[in-house]
Amino acid sequence: MTYVPVIDANACSAHGDCEDIAPEIFRLDDVAVVVNDGPLELMMAAAQACPSAAISIVDRDTGEQHYP
Ligand code: SF4
Repeated sequence: MTYVPVIDANACSAHGDCEDIAPEIFRLDDVAVVVNDGPLELMMAAAQACPSAAISIVDRDTGEQHYP
Protein backbone atom coordinates (compact mmCIF):
# COMPACT_ATOMS: atom_id res chain seq x y z
CA MET A 1 0.00 0.00 0.00
CA THR A 2 1.48 3.33 -1.07
CA TYR A 3 0.28 6.61 0.32
CA VAL A 4 0.61 9.95 -1.38
CA PRO A 5 -0.21 13.48 -0.25
CA VAL A 6 -2.88 15.52 -1.99
CA ILE A 7 -3.15 19.28 -1.59
CA ASP A 8 -6.41 21.19 -1.75
CA ALA A 9 -5.14 24.21 -3.67
CA ASN A 10 -8.24 26.19 -2.74
CA ALA A 11 -7.55 25.68 0.96
CA CYS A 12 -3.78 26.21 0.91
CA SER A 13 -2.76 29.53 2.45
CA ALA A 14 0.79 29.23 1.07
CA HIS A 15 2.80 29.93 4.19
CA GLY A 16 5.05 26.96 3.48
CA ASP A 17 4.92 24.92 6.67
CA CYS A 18 4.76 21.72 4.65
CA GLU A 19 7.85 22.63 2.65
CA ASP A 20 9.70 23.52 5.86
CA ILE A 21 8.89 20.09 7.31
CA ALA A 22 9.37 18.00 4.18
CA PRO A 23 11.08 19.90 1.34
CA GLU A 24 11.67 16.65 -0.53
CA ILE A 25 7.90 16.16 -0.76
CA PHE A 26 6.38 19.66 -0.96
CA ARG A 27 7.38 22.81 -2.80
CA LEU A 28 5.74 26.18 -2.47
CA ASP A 29 4.82 27.93 -5.69
CA ASP A 30 1.69 30.10 -5.71
CA VAL A 31 0.30 27.32 -3.54
CA ALA A 32 2.03 24.20 -2.27
CA VAL A 33 2.55 21.39 -4.75
CA VAL A 34 3.59 17.78 -4.28
CA VAL A 35 6.92 17.01 -5.93
CA ASN A 36 7.43 13.50 -4.56
CA ASP A 37 5.99 11.00 -2.18
CA GLY A 38 7.95 10.07 0.92
CA PRO A 39 7.81 8.25 4.22
CA LEU A 40 4.29 8.12 5.62
CA GLU A 41 5.48 9.57 8.93
CA LEU A 42 6.85 12.63 7.16
CA MET A 43 3.75 13.12 5.03
CA MET A 44 1.64 12.81 8.17
CA ALA A 45 3.78 15.32 10.07
CA ALA A 46 3.31 17.87 7.30
CA ALA A 47 -0.40 17.18 6.98
CA GLN A 48 -0.94 17.56 10.72
CA ALA A 49 1.08 20.78 10.78
CA CYS A 50 -0.82 22.39 7.91
CA PRO A 51 -2.68 25.36 9.42
CA SER A 52 -5.32 25.19 6.69
CA ALA A 53 -5.90 21.42 6.84
CA ALA A 54 -5.19 21.44 3.11
CA ILE A 55 -3.21 18.20 2.99
CA SER A 56 -4.84 14.80 2.73
CA ILE A 57 -3.05 11.47 2.64
CA VAL A 58 -4.59 8.96 0.26
CA ASP A 59 -3.88 5.45 -0.96
CA ARG A 60 -2.36 5.94 -4.40
CA ASP A 61 -4.02 2.86 -5.85
CA THR A 62 -7.52 3.00 -4.38
CA GLY A 63 -7.87 6.69 -3.59
CA GLU A 64 -9.01 5.76 -0.10
CA GLN A 65 -8.39 8.54 2.37
CA HIS A 66 -5.94 7.75 5.19
CA TYR A 67 -5.80 11.24 6.74
CA PRO A 68 -7.65 13.19 7.98
S1 SF4 B 1 1.24 23.79 5.13
FE1 SF4 B 1 -0.79 23.72 4.18
S2 SF4 B 1 -1.40 25.86 3.91
FE2 SF4 B 1 0.79 25.84 4.27
S3 SF4 B 1 1.72 25.78 2.22
FE3 SF4 B 1 1.53 23.64 2.91
S4 SF4 B 1 -0.46 22.96 2.11
FE4 SF4 B 1 -0.44 25.19 2.01
